[in-house]
Amino acid sequence: SQARIGLVGLGVMGANLSLNIAENGFPVAVFNRAGSVTDAFVASAGALSARIVPAKTYEALIASLAKPRAVIIMVKAGGAVDAVIDALTPLMEPGDMIIDAGNADFHDTRRREAALREKRLNFIGMGVSGGEEGARHGPSIMIGGNPESYAVIRDIIEAIAAKHEGAPCAAHFGPDGAGHFVKTVHNGIEYADMQMIAEVYGLLRDGAGRRPAEIGALFADWNKGPLKSYLVEISGRVLGTPDPQTGKPIVDVIVDMAGQKGTGRWTVIEALRLGQSPSTIEAAVAARSWSSEKATREEGAALFDDLASDPLLIPSDRELEQALLAAKIIAYDQGFKILSAASGEYEWNLDLASAAEVWREGCIIRSALLDDMAAAIREGLPQGQLIFAPRFAGLIREGARALRHTVSYAASAGLPVPAFANALAYFDTMRQSRGTADLIQAQRDFFGAHGFARIDGGADRHGPWAGAVAHS
Ligand code: NDP
Repeated sequence: SQARIGLVGLGVMGANLSLNIAENGFPVAVFNRAGSVTDAFVASAGALSARIVPAKTYEALIASLAKPRAVIIMVKAGGAVDAVIDALTPLMEPGDMIIDAGNADFHDTRRREAALREKRLNFIGMGVSGGEEGARHGPSIMIGGNPESYAVIRDIIEAIAAKHEGAPCAAHFGPDGAGHFVKTVHNGIEYADMQMIAEVYGLLRDGAGRRPAEIGALFADWNKGPLKSYLVEISGRVLGTPDPQTGKPIVDVIVDMAGQKGTGRWTVIEALRLGQSPSTIEAAVAARSWSSEKATREEGAALFDDLASDPLLIPSDRELEQALLAAKIIAYDQGFKILSAASGEYEWNLDLASAAEVWREGCIIRSALLDDMAAAIREGLPQGQLIFAPRFAGLIREGARALRHTVSYAASAGLPVPAFANALAYFDTMRQSRGTADLIQAQRDFFGAHGFARIDGGADRHGPWAGAVAHS
């Protein structure tokens, strides 16, 4: 029988995506490097196995596909993707396509797309978010590649994607790496979202002395309001969960060292290359890196144990909620600015509102706020700033006051809130019409004769420094 689409890599994501495709009525041919995994997968697929065509070789996989052939690769990102591409391409014909659905670095996607184009094969970079559950029942999908080849598989992609009021959370963002880039920035924002929630947890635990279950109940409450989101919801649930072995709150038995696979870091690196600085995401990446220095932190705790602090009054729960909301909007503001800068640099013509829309369901950062963000972007962002959107004016005004109190409190109590502090510094910078870069420019001119612009538009572009390096 002829399958509509093929899939290589029956790991967590690939297996669930295959079941999702089959469940939506599309026959899918599957291949896994270790053949025993394929057998076990088909055996566990139940009634859906009628629409699953197992293949034990790449040749058999390709032979089972209707033309033009389309094969999704869902393997470990990096060299494994190149290995699978190298195995598939000699078996394919012009017009066929390969879709990389893993978390690729978009530079790799651009390189692979160019290499396959030489062979008259199409390459699509497809970002998939939503974890195991999303892959099985509807992820958020971010596509980059040639639009004509996307048209061939669009019905399948839209069928398997999450839905928001009936509309699929899948979109084509532009050529080559555009989809993987949007997915990378999604993950960067996810880092910031998670970190900010963790910072509130820290203030309530170490500042207010609340127990995890109490903090969890507060998060569950917030999840009924404007902060309604998957991450706030699961954070509430996690905090209310006891450890089956000890009966203690499960967070209390988890080592406080965070892992990372690199997408947050890629977001920051790419943003810096583009002349941007997503300081809330940087803070979140930094916090994970610092968390891994456990031994250092233990020594530091012993060394500076006696440093007295004189805390301000802790913000109310309502203020923390407002602060979290404002900081979150600031993090998204920075995320959208990266997308905008990359779109300019790579000529992608990215639709930012569409990114907000595909993130509304299926993915890890799904939240009620994304509806408003998408609407705000469609209404037009003053200076490209989400924080200037008229729709968010009230939230930002109230939230900024609460954020300021929260950061002041944290500083006074000696509790680190790197993402909140960076969000506030960014906000205060973006509302300061005259900053302090006049002095930076003078310093640069003094030591390096770099010159400066005068506010009166006058011609003298250097200062009268005695003993400074000679200038032109
Ligand atoms: P798993 O570790 O569960 O599965 C990895 C798969 O890759 C296996 O099928 C493995 O085959 C295959 N593989 C590894 N190396 C090779 C190779 N050299 N040649 C052929 N096949 C190979 O990974 P996941 O399903 O979690 O992740 C897959 C991709 O999806 C990654 O890019 C990941 O970043 C991304 N992703 C994961 C999410 C998640 O929540 N887990 C969410 C969104 C994206 P074998 O059985 O033979 O070892």
